[in-house]
Amino acid sequence: MAYKILIANRGEIALRILRTCKELGIKTVIVHSTVDRQSLPVRLADERICIGGPQPTQSYLNIPAIITAAEISGAHAIHPGYGFLSENPSFAEQLEHTGFTFIGPSSHHIKIMGDKVEAIKFVKQYGIPCVPGSDGPILNEQQAVNVAESIGYPLIIKAAGGGGGRGMRVVHDNKQLLEGFSLTKAEAKAAFNNPCVYFEKYLTHPRHIEFQILGDGQGQAVHFGARDCSIQRRHQKIIEEAQPIDIPNEKLMEMGEKCASLCRAMNYRGAGTFEFLYQDEEFYFIEMNTRIQVEHPVTEMITGIDLIKQQISIAFGSKIQLAQKDISFHGHAIECRINAEDPETYLPSPGIVSFYHPPGGPGVRMDTHVYSTYSVPPYYDSMIGKLIVHGANRLEAFNKLSVALDEIVIEGIKTNLPLHRLLAADPDLRAGKHSIHFLQQRSDKISS
Ligand code: ADP
Repeated sequence: MAYKILIANRGEIALRILRTCKELGIKTVIVHSTVDRQSLPVRLADERICIGGPQPTQSYLNIPAIITAAEISGAHAIHPGYGFLSENPSFAEQLEHTGFTFIGPSSHHIKIMGDKVEAIKFVKQYGIPCVPGSDGPILNEQQAVNVAESIGYPLIIKAAGGGGGRGMRVVHDNKQLLEGFSLTKAEAKAAFNNPCVYFEKYLTHPRHIEFQILGDGQGQAVHFGARDCSIQRRHQKIIEEAQPIDIPNEKLMEMGEKCASLCRAMNYRGAGTFEFLYQDEEFYFIEMNTRIQVEHPVTEMITGIDLIKQQISIAFGSKIQLAQKDISFHGHAIECRINAEDPETYLPSPGIVSFYHPPGGPGVRMDTHVYSTYSVPPYYDSMIGKLIVHGANRLEAFNKLSVALDEIVIEGIKTNLPLHRLLAADPDLRAGKHSIHFLQQRSDKISS
């Protein structure tokens, strides 16, 4: 019997999943909103079902409509991509009850890791190092002051249910703490329907280092090395690379193995990422994402392994066919997130792409749903594609990145390509002198 997968997402990740399904001979059905009718994955899927209006709540977050579409189309499994319903435990639970296969972890694991306070408590039991912090939620102002005294300033107030770089506030003294405490709680309640907040020491010069893992829910789990995602704006990643430089390989492999062994212990099923901050040669866990990440291609480029294929095979009940020793790392890969936004104000820039010309050549990969005449809708995340390059080493990868960025043409809308061109040529970034504050410090330097 031929399998059929329903893709419950849009844009480049929907296209990415679609391509692997086609390669595997799996039939595809895609659900889409009224404004995505002309999008590339919708045009290329075997079947398409319009499930609602442009607002995400009307379509890509509309659980009953998605399950109905799966039922009508006879899909066996649902791939949620990233964002939208990918880390919604209630969606995964409803699929568990209705008999559709969720291409992701169990609802139980999504729930644990979706609450950052619970996640930290959970991983600590397995000896994973965490950022010094409040050891649980902060319940009132008195506790806030006491905990702040013991951690010391600056500290970061974080929403337990936060994500996507939102729900965080850095404070430097008691006054900011008390204001920030109630503000972050109120924002967290409004944005994530969970007012719970906790505190962490605000690390002053860390890099964001994360480990890709895969578990089969049958006792086996492996890691695929690490990624450095330190180049961020407002806590949102814009450039990622693999593997991180200037961290001894043994140290990376040791932490990767710790994450994989935790996944074996919890019998984790699916792809996942353990995110850490790395400062002064120490790792500090911050959270786990229980889905495929935007930046998964850099890992694919250095390992030669299709992670979406792995996700699908595990979801359909296969054991992981790879032993840890089968996963080796070749060369260096860098990814740039291309956003439809003004490169100076960072304001979104939706509209019609009047002309698109992709870059090419050896080691150049462009994951995008954009084509000439495509209209970027204003309702969704501004990311319209990812340029990924692979070189024999980091220098070659940066050189390839500069060449590819010079070649790519996207006209009709504004994009952050000018920023990427500057970053690809930046001597400090090329020299590996970066932390999560790189972009901020660079803009401060330019404006002063
Ligand atoms: P989200 O779930 O919103 O992505 P994370 O907890 O993963 O939030 O943190 C996102 C980014 O915020 C990190 O990559 C880092 O840049 C910054 N950050 C988070 N915690 C700290 C901390 N304790 N100290 C310094 N920066 C932090």
